Amino acid sequence: MILTARELIQKLANDTGLHYSAVAKLVNRSMQKGRGLIESVRIIAEDYKLNPKIYKINPENIVSEAVKILREDYTQTLMISAVLGQMVESKGKDRFPPPAFFAFIEILSEIENVPRDSKSETSTEIEERTTRMIELMTTLVSLLCDWSELGVNGIAFDCPDALREIARAVFRKTKLLQGGLWTCISCGNIVDVKETRALMCVECDNKIDGRRSLEDTFETLGGRTRSGYGRTEGK
Ligand SMILES: [Zn+2]
Repeated sequence: MILTARELIQKLANDTGLHYSAVAKLVNRSMQKGRGLIESVRIIAEDYKLNPKIYKINPENIVSEAVKILREDYTQTLMISAVLGQMVESKGKDRFPPPAFFAFIEILSEIENVPRDSKSETSTEIEERTTRMIELMTTLVSLLCDWSELGVNGIAFDCPDALREIARAVFRKTKLLQGGLWTCISCGNIVDVKETRALMCVECDNKIDGRRSLEDTFETLGGRTRSGYGRTEGK
């Protein structure tokens, strides 16, 4: 089952006989014109006399896959969250796009009862899961949202009803960020992006100061809507 943009582009590369990088460039160019991922892939498929309808990704399957990974193991989920949190703050090339991070937060906030120490994950495994999560989330937002050259433009017309809430949150938070405002990952308050400490507002940052650990930081992820991740762990 194809779940990420990379897998979809790989399939098109195999089917057309073109190199992956050549197809990726074509898709990219098409998307820069404001077309969606699937639409872009299908146009290229048609150019090569392939059946465009076979190139598809079901966003609900992406969410299921992300949920599956996040439910695997508590420590692993904390580590993935920490890495993505650092990457969204990064100014460099490895920056995790904020819309994808917002989608991640939405999904994470619905995760409950993650087993502790269900397995002893290796750093390689965590790295693999993190890379997978990055690909899943960037693909997900490219499907759920409507994009223009300026970024997220709205909610995609074919966004499934079950995922509209995620799409709405991604759109709203991204728009705020474009206006210089950040939604605190802990309390959900909207603050000036210049007055944030890491991904939180100053108040939330002060609250956890002194006992700051990876767990403290990420147990608060998701803010008010958090229904359980961490809190139902018997703390
Ligand atoms: Zn806050």
